[in-house]
Amino acid sequence: MNPRCAESRDVPTALIWDIKQYALHDGPGIRTTVFFKGCPLRCAWCCNPESQSFAPEMIWMAENCIGCGQCVQVCPHQAIAVVSGAVHIDAGRCDGCGRCSDNCPGGALQTMGRAYSIDRLMEEVLKDEGFFWRSGGGLTLSGGEPLAQADFARHLLERYKQETHGHTAVETCGQADPETVTALLPVVDLWLYDLKHIDPATHRRGTGADNRRILKNARTICEAGAALVPRIPLIPGFNDDHPSLAALAAFAAALPGVGEVHLMPYHRLGHPKYARLNRPYPFGDRRPSTPAAIEAARRIFADAGLKAGIGG
Ligand code: SF4
Ligand code: SF4
Repeated sequence: MNPRCAESRDVPTALIWDIKQYALHDGPGIRTTVFFKGCPLRCAWCCNPESQSFAPEMIWMAENCIGCGQCVQVCPHQAIAVVSGAVHIDAGRCDGCGRCSDNCPGGALQTMGRAYSIDRLMEEVLKDEGFFWRSGGGLTLSGGEPLAQADFARHLLERYKQETHGHTAVETCGQADPETVTALLPVVDLWLYDLKHIDPATHRRGTGADNRRILKNARTICEAGAALVPRIPLIPGFNDDHPSLAALAAFAAALPGVGEVHLMPYHRLGHPKYARLNRPYPFGDRRPSTPAAIEAARRIFADAGLKAGIGG
């Protein structure tokens, strides 16, 4: 956790970049999904670049800015300047306090990443408890990478279980210490588990890290008898060739208890976010997955004996 984000020394907090209510694709039923900020991987195709850094970040959307200068006035650290009509934020001065976005009349500034205590998150999550109960839904932790703030994640899930006995899910890239995964096993009902490539060197090229811990943690979870659904992003030119998908299918099919996977076709919806963060889009002009490529992938997983759903 970024120490600058702590609400107080005594109350543990996590850096959260979004909370999605009425989520329908992050586990069974109707759910609330809490998105942790910060990820140990850097997937070139990431559609949520605002989730990657472990520090708060500001997003400025030029189309919403009315040029009032209010943000400059309220910033306690003189981190904002307006130059030729464009808002510039000095990341070295900004501590993510959010005063500028809270006072922006146009909604042009957004603070990505705010510190939440468990009490505050529980308040948000319990708002929809009636929907969870009726639909078999519950709480999903996503990211970024929730296992990167694992103590907080575990305490939150324990508290949710104690208060509601509801369903819990974790959406993870699996890049975590084995002890972290083992500690979470008693409080996670469903693991939505990203598998991107079987070859360690190719995995490193696409994500910045090899996959040894990821594959080992997947086996550990399944051998413990926990429910796990692999989520395979279909990435053109990275893993959507037949040998790469067949290797992923063979690995998934060999995991104890795994009978289905979710195939997640590549799209470019995250592309504009990079410009808002003043960062280049690392995946260039790669085109989205075609219907033919998605169907070919589905057949490869079906041939391995796995039900393959498209999307979450
Ligand atoms: S988040 Fe706070 S410190 Fe950062 S630019 Fe806005 S007002 Fe200034
Ligand atoms: S407060 Fe919002 S609308 Fe006003 S100048 Fe700053 S970013 Fe633009």
